[in-house]
Amino acid sequence: MVSKTFTVLANAVGKPAEEIEMVAKEYPFALTPFLVRRVEEGTYSAAALQQFVPDMRELLDVDGYSSDPTHEENIRPEEATLQTYDNRLLIMLTHQCLVYCRFCFRKSFVGFPEHAISEMQFDKALAYLAAHPEIKDVVLSGGDPLAVPNRRLIPFLKKITTIPHVEAIRIDSRALSTHPARIDDELIDFLRSDDRFWYHAHMNHPDDINHPDVIAAVRRLLSACVPVFNQSVILHGVNDDAETMSRLMMSCYRNKVIPYNLYIFDHVKGAAHFDVSNERIEKIYTALSRLPGPAQPVLVYVDERSRKHRTIFDEPEDLHAFLARRDAFLARNEENKTALTAANV
Ligand code: SF4
Repeated sequence: MVSKTFTVLANAVGKPAEEIEMVAKEYPFALTPFLVRRVEEGTYSAAALQQFVPDMRELLDVDGYSSDPTHEENIRPEEATLQTYDNRLLIMLTHQCLVYCRFCFRKSFVGFPEHAISEMQFDKALAYLAAHPEIKDVVLSGGDPLAVPNRRLIPFLKKITTIPHVEAIRIDSRALSTHPARIDDELIDFLRSDDRFWYHAHMNHPDDINHPDVIAAVRRLLSACVPVFNQSVILHGVNDDAETMSRLMMSCYRNKVIPYNLYIFDHVKGAAHFDVSNERIEKIYTALSRLPGPAQPVLVYVDERSRKHRTIFDEPEDLHAFLARRDAFLARNEENKTALTAANV
């Protein structure tokens, strides 16, 4: 029998529940009770929900879309770490998430038990960090670090705070918009005890922030002197129009969440249906450049060769140069697809 959550989702987005359930067997699925409640109440739109609803198109193998689009496999000094820059280290605290975003660039990693991160791997990550005084900035990621309960998370954070050369600790998490109660008093009291913590939210649609519980959780973080920044991805069918994206950025600004990186979608296997045309990217970015300065995000993409974040400024020539390179990539894929189809005839 199809579960109640799948039935709720099916009704909300107009897809057969059996289809949703079938895809969820291939790629992990989870939705928090908070979001299920919002869908039932009608305060979370079908467009926002597309971020989390399994879709048959995830099972397509589209040429040019890869399971490791940013080549993370090549930049792991320790199993639970990623390092692109000398002065920054990303530590993966868990392979689990509170929700599984269907477009995630770690889609083939998160939620699969074989990628579980052990205590020994944590310890090795900490030892590596302690032995490298040039690392000033630590990003906690995963999976979602706030999928780890406080009884394990807080002792781990405490250990990082004992390393004096660490100047900033960023928590990258979707908890703020998907499970705001996770930003609880115990966590807030701990974060207040050390002034190096930052919170990086991941909100892609105005509905992600426009709820009293989410805004209350933002205020709890700010009350503990934890700055809150937001990162978003441009996603087909979710936020790929100038009006939706402008509302998202203004809602963030209005609630003292600083819009930070706006990512161009990585070519992730199983998520090609979220890719966005260059024309849309250009329209969105032109519209965002008219917002008040603090509401404007920075348009970035991850360079697939160097793994470094590249910023696209709002000078038309920067944007056009990037979009021309992206066009060439898409054209190459089209040629490959045509050649493959011809070969199969
Ligand atoms: S919460 Fe983050 S790591 Fe987890 S699926 Fe979503 S984007 Fe990926």
